[in-house]
Amino acid sequence: MAQRIAVLGSTGSIGTQTLDVIERYPDLFTARVLIAGSKVDMLIEQCRNFRPRRAVIAREDLYATLSEALSPLGIECAAGADAVADAMDDPDVDTVVTATVGYSGLLPTIRAIKAGKRIGLANKETLVVAGQLVTGLLAESPSTVVPIDSEHSAIYQCLVGETPESVDKLIITASGGPFRRYSARQLETVTVEQALHHPRWNMGAKITIDSATMMNKAFEIIEARWLFGIPGERITAVIHPQAIVHSMVQFVDGAVKAQLGLPDMHLPIRYALADATRLESDCPKLTVADYSRLTFSQPDPHKFPCLTLARYALDRPGNTACIINAANEIAVDAFLHGRIGFTSIYPLIMATVDRIDHIDSPSLDDYIATDSEARAAAREWVADHSL
Ligand code: MG
Repeated sequence: MAQRIAVLGSTGSIGTQTLDVIERYPDLFTARVLIAGSKVDMLIEQCRNFRPRRAVIAREDLYATLSEALSPLGIECAAGADAVADAMDDPDVDTVVTATVGYSGLLPTIRAIKAGKRIGLANKETLVVAGQLVTGLLAESPSTVVPIDSEHSAIYQCLVGETPESVDKLIITASGGPFRRYSARQLETVTVEQALHHPRWNMGAKITIDSATMMNKAFEIIEARWLFGIPGERITAVIHPQAIVHSMVQFVDGAVKAQLGLPDMHLPIRYALADATRLESDCPKLTVADYSRLTFSQPDPHKFPCLTLARYALDRPGNTACIINAANEIAVDAFLHGRIGFTSIYPLIMATVDRIDHIDSPSLDDYIATDSEARAAAREWVADHSL
């Protein structure tokens, strides 16, 4: 029987590419539940094509539109945050792909873990915000996680057949974003348009800005720490502008394994949906001879201070990364709306970390409270420093 899949965030960049993969292998996969935030027209269109059993929209005011279009087709419709979470333990679903961006992915993912679902994890914030708690829940649940983030998928692939003791270092590659060659002074005046123009990957707005500040790489180091159980001091980032090597693992004997491919998210999605096995693909494939030069260099933490927040957070476990993530979400939104400059993102995050109490072993309620307090503090900072 085809694997029954719920796509959390079906209208986003990873969500639509997940549906491409489902469509390509109809004997292996079927879309059972599609969940979107607010793009109701696109969700309706997807449901017409994929005929899931259930469609959920997070924004409650869009319920009538959804239901009017889909109920006649026999598709169950629901709306609101509770309906999103309820969809995670649908008995008719084997695998949940968490393709949403940001903190909003946390509670639904926890629900899916508790329900013992297989998880294709594209929502990195789940592990960034609450890695301690989530890995604890995973240890007690039959639920398994295969990462979809390209770097983590690469590391996962490199680790097949290896023992945990044989791993020395995880080396996460970063394209360096659009401002790799900019001076510190040039960074002060970059525009939203420039920041949204990523040289290699075509992604959503939030993650594109996170790539430009290198906050995305800091999050990926934190995500890797929890996903692979490797201490933060043994996880490094290197700049690799060609974005062909998706990440590497160095072993205790000195050997380095890497996973290479074109920058195309369909591969990690396919690998995760197929439960870490390989499916024949008709996507364009890498021809290594086309690349006479693959380069690697150290990132500059003075130009991209957000990168240093990975070590900062991992040295202060508990709710620190949750504060950083909340402040960053407010900062990116403020930057996208022209309210703060690009170089204000880091000071805003640090000012927020200073204002929120540290909690060593947070409960889920502590994480929820930390997130909302940090957002409030970050919004105040934006109001005080608006351009
Ligand atoms: Mg990534």
